[in-house]
Amino acid sequence: MPLEGVDEAVSMKTTSFWSDDFPRPDDLPVASALPSQVDVAVVGGGYAGLNAAYTLAKQGTSVAVLEQHTIGWGASSRNGGITGCGLKQGMPTIFKRYGEARARVFWQASLDALEIIRALVQEEGVACDFQPRGDLSVAYKPSHFEGMRARVAWHRKVLGHELVLLSREELREEIGSNAYYGGVVDPHGIGLHPAKLVFGLARVAARHGAQLCEHAEVKRVQPTAQGYLLHTTRGVLAAREVVVTTNGYTGRFMPQVRRLIVPAGSYSIVTEPLPPDLQREISPKGRMFWDSKWFLNYFRLTPDGRMLWGGRNDLSTNLDLYKSARILRRQMLRAFPQLQAYKVTHTWTGQLGIPFDLMPKVGRLPNGVHYAVGFGGHGLHMALYTGREVARLLLGQVSRSPFAEIPQRRYFFYRHNPWFMPLVAYYYRARDWLS
Ligand SMILES: Cc1cc2nc3c(=O)[nH]c(=O)nc-3n(C[C@H](O)[C@H](O)[C@H](O)COP(=O)(O)OP(=O)(O)OC[C@H]3O[C@@H](n4cnc5c(N)ncnc54)[C@H](O)[C@@H]3O)c2cc1C
Repeated sequence: MPLEGVDEAVSMKTTSFWSDDFPRPDDLPVASALPSQVDVAVVGGGYAGLNAAYTLAKQGTSVAVLEQHTIGWGASSRNGGITGCGLKQGMPTIFKRYGEARARVFWQASLDALEIIRALVQEEGVACDFQPRGDLSVAYKPSHFEGMRARVAWHRKVLGHELVLLSREELREEIGSNAYYGGVVDPHGIGLHPAKLVFGLARVAARHGAQLCEHAEVKRVQPTAQGYLLHTTRGVLAAREVVVTTNGYTGRFMPQVRRLIVPAGSYSIVTEPLPPDLQREISPKGRMFWDSKWFLNYFRLTPDGRMLWGGRNDLSTNLDLYKSARILRRQMLRAFPQLQAYKVTHTWTGQLGIPFDLMPKVGRLPNGVHYAVGFGGHGLHMALYTGREVARLLLGQVSRSPFAEIPQRRYFFYRHNPWFMPLVAYYYRARDWLS
């Protein structure tokens, strides 16, 4: 039985499929030395940091991206490559919580974020297997389908956004699985190759003059009369402004940012490539999928025809990757028993930053440092968006960010260690069970 024998475990790679398929290009134009001084230092070389750098460099600002490992090392090269309209927090909740005027701004931000990806592809020539084929969320339980019906009606009435509700029978045209009780198609959903996007964006940022500094972990940011000194493992850099985009990997160097988000693990597997007939059976329209649980599974076919299956097993960041593969594969086979004979080739994880209120965190600390973090599982488009937003604030192109204006609480019970996450996981598991 695949995965249970030692041989299978040994042959499975424990690195992201995406960066195995498309490794960091050897000719990525990285800086050979740390510059001594820049206008803006960006900490973190993922979508948020690189898009901030790209936006700033395009306007002639001197900018360096400081990445502790290699460019794209974090979640930006490990994610599912699935994105669409909206934020992690549902729009009806956002309307209730922040009022209609603000909520409409947040909704528009999510649409603009998708346009950033489109522009990178179409105007900057970033080749990332961009697939604007729509997404499909599937009802894991009959009761979830009723919630979907209400969601479709709400989006039509309040946002004028047309989603397509599908009954269990209609779902057969969309997905080769009998496990689900209906679903909702959003035609605006997008699939892409996350590693190709992050390395493509890095190349574009460098083309506009951004300096990409790898193996430059920022240990300390020291305010000075002229700005800041960034103490890194490659030396010291002076900058007028600092932008922190370290998200799920934010460590102790910036506790004020770390306390806004909780790092959580997301885990994925891919199978070997599937025969074309089976690919068509599983996903006749090439949609991106996720299910309706709190502990949701996201899944899709990769551009080379593998099944990618992911989820947040238990929110921890240190689950054994072979154990994770067994759990994920069991879930995958429950939905797609026809995949039984296909080997899992990769099992990996990455960390995302989950904010307590599930809303992106953009702002400026009392010491003047800017940040953009906390996207939950919706970081692909929102990290790009908020990175650009912080850059625009620094350039004076906008005077405020709506994300910076919502309350950003830090809680006394969370300083560095998210000890409460197992309890949170139990709570959401219970909600999934009871719903
Ligand atoms: C397995 C997985 C699946 C996901 N699937 C999806 C999906 O399908 N759709 C979606 O929208 N989102 C998804 N996400 C979330 C999404 O990938 C992230 O929200 C997004 O990539 C965040 O980008 P970022 O630039 O903010 O952070 P990251 O890409 O994580 O980059 C942060 C970088 O900061 C660096 N860093 C940290 N500390 C320092 C320091 N002190 N000095 C220098 N550098 C430092 C890290 O090394 C890291 O490279 C997924 C995440 C994971 C892990």
